[in-house]
Amino acid sequence: MRIVTSAAAMQRLAQSWQRRGTRIGFVPTMGFLHEGHLSLVRIARKRVGVSGKVVVSIYVNPTQFGPREDLSRYPRDFKRDCRLCRAADVDVIFAPSDAEMYPRWGEATNEPAREDARPTFSTYIVEEKISRAMEGASRPTHFRGVTTVVAKLFNLVLPDVAVFGAKDWQQAAIVKRMVADLNFPLRIIVAPTVRERDGLALSSRNKYLDAAQREQATILHRSIQRARVIVKRKSVSAAKLKADMKRFIATAPLGRLDYVEVFEPTTLAPAAQVSRGTHMALAVFFGKTRLIDNARL
Ligand code: AMP
Repeated sequence: MRIVTSAAAMQRLAQSWQRRGTRIGFVPTMGFLHEGHLSLVRIARKRVGVSGKVVVSIYVNPTQFGPREDLSRYPRDFKRDCRLCRAADVDVIFAPSDAEMYPRWGEATNEPAREDARPTFSTYIVEEKISRAMEGASRPTHFRGVTTVVAKLFNLVLPDVAVFGAKDWQQAAIVKRMVADLNFPLRIIVAPTVRERDGLALSSRNKYLDAAQREQATILHRSIQRARVIVKRKSVSAAKLKADMKRFIATAPLGRLDYVEVFEPTTLAPAAQVSRGTHMALAVFFGKTRLIDNARL
């Protein structure tokens, strides 16, 4: 397994594979890997075969964090991530620095470039339809950061397939839309959410929870199960279901509901009426930690 930290080196390597007709599978992550990430790696390997290459990127992307979010304390353990990737038969870890990904980021101005000016970073990709609701409403600049970094990573890793988790359903939908709208020549695969035994979706952020919060964090998954039971026999209005969910989530006193939404799974259009097959997503704060989950009902 190779560890590549330079963007140019990653791109040259990917180009050399491409010239030889080697298939490239890609799993973008922010590191602090868990079984959810590793399930994506296994899917990528299956897609490209033993002769293909699997690349995992480990990069805590600053542009997708808001000013009051957890960028500086986001959990990191690069050594452990490397061990897990090696054991999972990953070919390359791409772990660039901020300077590699965003040259002189933050220094971009509208002043005319001086002769001696080194390049600054000032180009972003913005999806304009499905990024506004849910995560986008709570984290206004988040998806701009995600689409921008994912596009950059696609240009550096040149994947034939990239695997994303259903855990971040809106993110996966936006990435798919970007790939279609901007004609990226690759296929996006969305992999099922891996959970703890008690239903909590695996997340690097679960590490922030104390014991009492951890116990109550199952409220997200239990809400989904409850909603499934409610809509199993007959459809209900979105307003009624959401009101029920709010009351139910309040039974976990350490949790504070950020949003619960029901929507059509591809377009993310809000549903007025909820029945089997409608998608539900929710975000709940436990202290400063914000947990998300979603599922088809
Ligand atoms: P992150 O490191 O949190 O940015 O996640 C990297 C990728 O792993 C994203 O595509 C996530 O959707 C995916 N992922 C995160 N948690 C899980 C999980 N519990 N099950 C499956 N995929 C996941």
